[in-house]
Amino acid sequence: MTVFRAGAATDVGRVRSNNQDSHLVHEGELFAVADGMGGHQGGEVASSLALTVLTEAHDEPSTATLVRAVRTANQAVFDRAGADPELRGMGTTLTALADVDTRDGRRLGIVNVGDSRLYRLREGRDLEQLTEDHSLVASLLRQGRITPEEAETHPQRNILTRALGIDEAVAVDSWEVEPVVGDRFLICSDGLFNEVDEARLTATLRRFDDPADAAGELVRLANEGGGRDNITAVVVDVLAAGSEGDTAQVPVVAASDGDGDAGESADEGRSNPAGDGGPAEGPTSGGAGPRFTWRVALFVLALLGLVAVVVGALTWYGRNTYFVTIDDDEVVIFKGRPGGFLVFDPTEEERTGIAADDVPADQVARLEDGVDQPTLAAAEDYVDNLREDIEDEEPATAEQDGGPSSSTTTTTTTSAPDRDGTGGGTAGDVVGDAGG
Ligand code: MG
Repeated sequence: MTVFRAGAATDVGRVRSNNQDSHLVHEGELFAVADGMGGHQGGEVASSLALTVLTEAHDEPSTATLVRAVRTANQAVFDRAGADPELRGMGTTLTALADVDTRDGRRLGIVNVGDSRLYRLREGRDLEQLTEDHSLVASLLRQGRITPEEAETHPQRNILTRALGIDEAVAVDSWEVEPVVGDRFLICSDGLFNEVDEARLTATLRRFDDPADAAGELVRLANEGGGRDNITAVVVDVLAAGSEGDTAQVPVVAASDGDGDAGESADEGRSNPAGDGGPAEGPTSGGAGPRFTWRVALFVLALLGLVAVVVGALTWYGRNTYFVTIDDDEVVIFKGRPGGFLVFDPTEEERTGIAADDVPADQVARLEDGVDQPTLAAAEDYVDNLREDIEDEEPATAEQDGGPSSSTTTTTTTSAPDRDGTGGGTAGDVVGDAGG
């Protein structure tokens, strides 16, 4: 169980008449900011309704459930806007952080729609914005059509490209990150980061130990900077991480479906589509554990299959061939490779009864090196031919002592284990499994 300490602050600002931001610090496991917009009371209704529904619908500690809860909240705001003419056109951003359980341990699930932000301040690192803004300005910036300086003062920087309540379906960005003791997260509405630059956000988050104090000071700074919008800050500290001690160093493999973002950060899995308006990909992150495990299993199986094939082939090569040679002044058929191969020593298969002295002179050198034959039958044919050559060449000798032509063939039944057949069979089975 990840243990958090959180504090929040919100303010209407110095220009607006009502505060349409809502925030949530729920039972130490779900934290969120929603920045409502539209109409008279619409913005307030949209942001508070979204967080109420999110809390109810997030009934399981998983990122997939968190994403579904955001969709449920979207539907609720959309339905409400359609049912009440005074609320027509209302919508809200939603950025949330939740303690989630995965097969690889505790993680922090993050979801985002709109331009509220989640930042992380980690020991020894700069402040990192983990969410991606769904705003016109952010799109222009990503496309390189405006500079970061132009973005800060762009007249249309309030225009969102995604929000809850606008359509029946909504694309939800989601991420999972490792909880590391000492990490401090900031969830905030644009009323904060449009008034306070990142250097001051960082300095303030570092200066105050108590998250509530940090949140309060951030809101004060935003008002000091102009307070042109509602301001909300939720500060969340990770006090203890994981159920099996500190799992901070366990790497996470991204579950991303090849959108190119997977490799950008070794310790985080992100599953959102890179661009705006893409289909919601959130639930895929929930499948990170099983998919990762299955891929590893397949990989190991394929590797074992490959090893078995190689061992089988080597065994076949080392054992399942024959050669004819001269041994102890006699022509003998051996099973294996001349001189042995790897761990396989040749074994005697048949002694032919042909004396080395009777072998035609031009064949002695070849036989001494060993004459390879693919099968026992081929080796026996070779020996038969050799015997005929000898009989053709030296009939007189054969008549004299009658010995060499008597062809007393001794078959030696080798007691070597039949590894070839076993090895080949195993290889075939494993490859079949891995391929299927
Ligand atoms: Mg705002």
